[in-house]
Amino acid sequence: MDTSEKMFAQACEVMPGGVNSPVRAYRAVNMTPRFIHHAKGSHIFDVDGVDYVDYVGSWGPMILGHSHPIVLQAVEETMKNGLSFGAPTGRETELAQLVISMVPNIEMVRMVNSGTEAVMSAVRVARGATGRDKIIKFEGCYHGHSDSMLVKAGSGALTGGRPDSAGVPAAVAGDTLTAQYNDLDSVERLLAANAGQVAAVIVEPVAANMGVVPPAEGFLPGLRALCDKHGALLIFDEVITGFRLAQGGAQEYFGVRADLVTFGKIIGGGMPVGAFAGSKKLMEHVAPTGPVYQAGTLSGNPVAMAAGIAQLNLLKNKEIYTNIENNAAWLAQQLRDLEAQYQIGCTVNQIGSLLSVFFTDKPVTDFAGAKSSDTERYAAYFREMLKQGVYLAPAQFEAMFVSAAHTIDDLTWTVTAAKLAMQKLSAEK
Ligand SMILES: *Cc1c(COP(=O)(O)O)cnc(C)c1O
Repeated sequence: MDTSEKMFAQACEVMPGGVNSPVRAYRAVNMTPRFIHHAKGSHIFDVDGVDYVDYVGSWGPMILGHSHPIVLQAVEETMKNGLSFGAPTGRETELAQLVISMVPNIEMVRMVNSGTEAVMSAVRVARGATGRDKIIKFEGCYHGHSDSMLVKAGSGALTGGRPDSAGVPAAVAGDTLTAQYNDLDSVERLLAANAGQVAAVIVEPVAANMGVVPPAEGFLPGLRALCDKHGALLIFDEVITGFRLAQGGAQEYFGVRADLVTFGKIIGGGMPVGAFAGSKKLMEHVAPTGPVYQAGTLSGNPVAMAAGIAQLNLLKNKEIYTNIENNAAWLAQQLRDLEAQYQIGCTVNQIGSLLSVFFTDKPVTDFAGAKSSDTERYAAYFREMLKQGVYLAPAQFEAMFVSAAHTIDDLTWTVTAAKLAMQKLSAEK
């Protein structure tokens, strides 16, 4: 038994599945999760001192790599003044100003503590502002674990084989309509059948919780047009894409305007921060200026704000985005070349610094395509990669995150590891 196995056995006694978030449990890959001791740059080290090149990046936040000295310094300096006051500090305004300066089409921001909260609150604003109850989401998109969003959800919900959660009242789920990603007709049909009742369409502008599936040409502009036609709001859930595809997220990358935008992950620099944002007109529906209630004891926590401010300031450098996108594109191409050589039956999707290796030989352009993946083969690939010191997401329906800290050595080692893994899978086929 290694140290992780011992620690996991203890954890399982006191926490459901031994974890505080399901995909960490490694069930989909039939393994014991690695318990982490520390991480630095692109590398993560487990409690036995094993060193891995990390492509999880805490599921997205660590776009600059782990333990960035400037982010750590900001946290250290801020915490000396106290951890939480439950009263305003200037850092909240500073982070809000930064977000507004980097992201198009937003004038006001409300800070929360997670992506889940950000989405839950944005949906409430949409309902409050339109006076309508129904929401359209896409099958396989994940928007956190609030009741109305756990309907045909992606990520851990999909990996666990239960995209609809127990404990969500039927009455709540009934107001969540599901359409097909990259299929505008499926959205139009729902809007027409529920005329005057749909408050918002919520979408991951790049689907990244069914594995990475980029939007088809015309899909996002089409959603914008359909929302305008039917008086519904368009919510971009940018919890992954925000500050990752570009400084201004998907709105900047694709040139499509959303009415409400949600953030998480990167915005907190590794601390628990989320946010939702929109025009002044929409955001003034939020309490205390408006009737849409939303609150949080630790929201805008000064130490968390400091980490977010430090990370976003560092991201005001367009070169970072060019580099991580180029590195991800290079890695994707190398993996495709390996597939051409070993024919294990996989498809590589990549956009910006996000990529996924799907274990299916068909192109993956929608949820049905993603679901056609052989998750057992992904698990075998994952285990081989881990053995070679490459730390991937322990489930097929997740993204690989390339960070600014990944070096040429990291990337070439990853390709070598993938070659060994594919050779082995090819021999087993
Ligand atoms: C991670 C994620 C969420 C939920 O954020 P949490 O901080 O885990 O609550 C919501 N939407 C998307 C697109 C995500 O990837």
